[in-house]
Amino acid sequence: MTTHGISSDVSLAVNILSSGGIIGMPTETVYGLAACALDENAVQRVFDTKGRPHNHPLIVHLSPSMDFRKWGVFSADAEALATSFWPGPLTLLVPRTSIVPDWVTGGRDTVAIRVPSHPLAQELLTRTNTGVVAPSANKFGRVSPTSARHVLQDLGDEVDLILDGGECEVGLESTIVECTDVFQILRPGQISTEDIIRVTGRNPHQTTGPSRAPGMLASHYAPQAQVMIVDSLDDAQRIQREQSTLRSVHLIYFSDVTSYAEHLYDELRTADRNECELVIAVRAPSSGIGIAINDRLSKAAADR
Ligand code: AMP
Ligand code: MG
Repeated sequence: MTTHGISSDVSLAVNILSSGGIIGMPTETVYGLAACALDENAVQRVFDTKGRPHNHPLIVHLSPSMDFRKWGVFSADAEALATSFWPGPLTLLVPRTSIVPDWVTGGRDTVAIRVPSHPLAQELLTRTNTGVVAPSANKFGRVSPTSARHVLQDLGDEVDLILDGGECEVGLESTIVECTDVFQILRPGQISTEDIIRVTGRNPHQTTGPSRAPGMLASHYAPQAQVMIVDSLDDAQRIQREQSTLRSVHLIYFSDVTSYAEHLYDELRTADRNECELVIAVRAPSSGIGIAINDRLSKAAADR
């Protein structure tokens, strides 16, 4: 298939997905690399295009009009979270049903499911009328894309189409909550621990470290530049003055955490485009989405 480049033609996107193609798909979190979940060859192409190891399972995206219980077994907690936060930036890890293939879950008996809120994503999913896998549309280990242009820069003509839905509103990947015999947050995101406690009345385990789930690696979301995390803008500016005669420096700081999340990945990409050697990022306050920002910063700063 020849690539159609960037387009906002949803009908074309539906046709490509339904005939086994792969496309860049906008969501409110980051752009995904979408393929029909039940199409083994298309899903295989997603792994190959990203360079993603096959034991890193994929999230199944559903439209609000579809019955998510066909794909997973939902506990009372999972139902409550789905009711409160779908459509939205929350992924639920639940026991899978028999329709979910091994190539989506890496052979595990659990499946990760999300219903995105982005209007174009919803239209695409509704009209495709099946589950769609959509890991971030970037090469494995690199910074996630938050615009159609980012996807084009990373994957170019390796995808059949990039559906342009503007810039992602949240800017960071979804919160992942495991609702099996363990109740835990596998990845922090915009939906916070407090949000989850408020809805379920239960305190999820906080898991940290690279081994908590397949694909949760210490180094991830990494630009070419070295990343240094500091505690305050004053520290950042002092280090920038000291370093700038030695190395080209890009400073990242937003006083507003919502804007910080929204623009973080674009800032990391800008640093690379300008061939900066060092990124100095000011740590976010460690509450709400600030926890997710700091999680991504520490992965961008980790040893490769
Ligand atoms: P992403 O990289 O945004 O596509 O998120 C996928 C991540 O969700 C994986 O790397 C896993 O950590 C987690 N995940 C998805 N599906 C499963 C599953 N079936 N079992 C355990 N973890 C999963
Ligand atoms: Mg990713």
